[in-house]
Amino acid sequence: MEIEREVKKMTLGHDFGAGAACLKCKEKCEGFELHFWRKICRNCKCGLADHNVHMESEESKKVGRLFEDTKYTGLIAKLKTDGVPTYRGNMAAVSMLSPASSSLVLPAFGGTAVQPASSSSCSSSSSSSSSPSPSNSSAPGRSGKPPAPAPPAKVNITPVKGVAVPVNAGTSSVTYEWAPPGANKYMAVRYIELLPPEKRPVKGSEGAEYRRQQMAVQLPEHDQDPTLCHELSPAEVKLMEQYVRKYKDDALGMGDILLPQEVALLRPAGGTGGSVGPRGSVGPGGSVGPGGSVGPRGSVGPGGSSCSHCQLPMCHGEPAVYAERAGYDQLWHPACFVCCRCSELLVDMIYFWKKGKLYCGRHYGDSEKPRCGGCDELIFSNEYTQAEDQNWHLKHFCCFNCDCVLAGETYVMEKDKPLCKPCYMNNHSVRCVSCQQLLEPEAQRVSYGDHHWHAEPQCFQCSGCAKCLMGERFMAVQDKLFCSVECRKKTPA
Ligand SMILES: [Zn+2]
Ligand SMILES: [Zn+2]
Ligand SMILES: [Zn+2]
Ligand SMILES: [Zn+2]
Ligand SMILES: [Zn+2]
Ligand SMILES: [Zn+2]
Ligand SMILES: [Zn+2]
Ligand SMILES: [Zn+2]
Repeated sequence: MEIEREVKKMTLGHDFGAGAACLKCKEKCEGFELHFWRKICRNCKCGLADHNVHMESEESKKVGRLFEDTKYTGLIAKLKTDGVPTYRGNMAAVSMLSPASSSLVLPAFGGTAVQPASSSSCSSSSSSSSSPSPSNSSAPGRSGKPPAPAPPAKVNITPVKGVAVPVNAGTSSVTYEWAPPGANKYMAVRYIELLPPEKRPVKGSEGAEYRRQQMAVQLPEHDQDPTLCHELSPAEVKLMEQYVRKYKDDALGMGDILLPQEVALLRPAGGTGGSVGPRGSVGPGGSVGPGGSVGPRGSVGPGGSSCSHCQLPMCHGEPAVYAERAGYDQLWHPACFVCCRCSELLVDMIYFWKKGKLYCGRHYGDSEKPRCGGCDELIFSNEYTQAEDQNWHLKHFCCFNCDCVLAGETYVMEKDKPLCKPCYMNNHSVRCVSCQQLLEPEAQRVSYGDHHWHAEPQCFQCSGCAKCLMGERFMAVQDKLFCSVECRKKTPA
């Protein structure tokens, strides 16, 4: 019964995305077909995410499963909010299609124009220009500044400080494929504006594609579900379940945004920071709801805090990212909330916290377990092999081309992938310039630029006097070798 269910699941997995065209290989790939244990296309060897598949619902299911059964208090409360960013299967989309909302949001784009997303410094532009405030005036802490004017009823795109406002020609709508859940719309939009332009999840843009790719790379589905792994033994399944339980309890979280001064209020009394904040102790149900009930406190926190990543000051009026597991004395600029290993923006602010560092899911996994270079799964078996600076399930140290097992065989690494000798000879081997024979992978060779020779006296020799040039000075003229200028002169070209 149990087995039947798993078989069905595997089959379903193999159907997903079948036939989709590869965006990288174009017509060279006949269509996506999942390899039976690698997580790549059998036809072109690219990943599923490189193919033209709509993974939105798969992704949201994946993220849903990731947070399922966690005690991540803040998030669960947040995802249920009836706030403007709608929660649909763990994906939040802020659409600015309605006139009402676009009038609320657009002025912020003016801010973008004068303040390019230099999230790492507090330029004065946002405070000196008539900085827009959402109509519900839910962004607190702008004390000391003149009250912001109410947003215009009709959107009138005027250049701010002479800089043209980059709004999609003629339209007043931008759809984000993701925005911080639970944040008010003004904060969500500011957060996205503070990301590098090429990483903003604007529907149909390069940034949306970046997010799609990172979703696949940073959060491997097979790191969280044993049924998506290939032929685990019952013991491996058990170990993996323990591993998943452990990161759900101790590491996994989703960042959130607030103004720096609002985060300061979440710190324990005294609020001077320094100590590690309490875990998961935000007031039940978010008593300090974003954009909600923070009082009109004008006082800034402890003399202004700095970003845990770049050490530059946090901007008083701009959203800061915080992470429950890191404590409330740590803040990040939106663009600085990155994995400590790959430095990529943590996709959808999903982080793994370990020993004072932020990791993406993939690199957290790598820091805990070896990862198989063949199937990309974490290895829960004691038996595995190390080769070429990578780890491999014993049965997965195979030729990347024909899948034959390479244990005890001659293999060649080609672009970090092992190949068996026949596949290497057929596809990648080069010929000796001198004798014109294919160079066997194990043959000693001399390479000079794109030219290769057997490292033997009869091949690596002077074209003039046939002297062996191994260990000697030589000159190469096209594909001829010479021991001296004299030999070169006496040899017809
Ligand atoms: Zn491809
Ligand atoms: Zn393909
Ligand atoms: Zn920073
Ligand atoms: Zn990473
Ligand atoms: Zn493997
Ligand atoms: Zn092969
Ligand atoms: Zn040769
Ligand atoms: Zn010579």
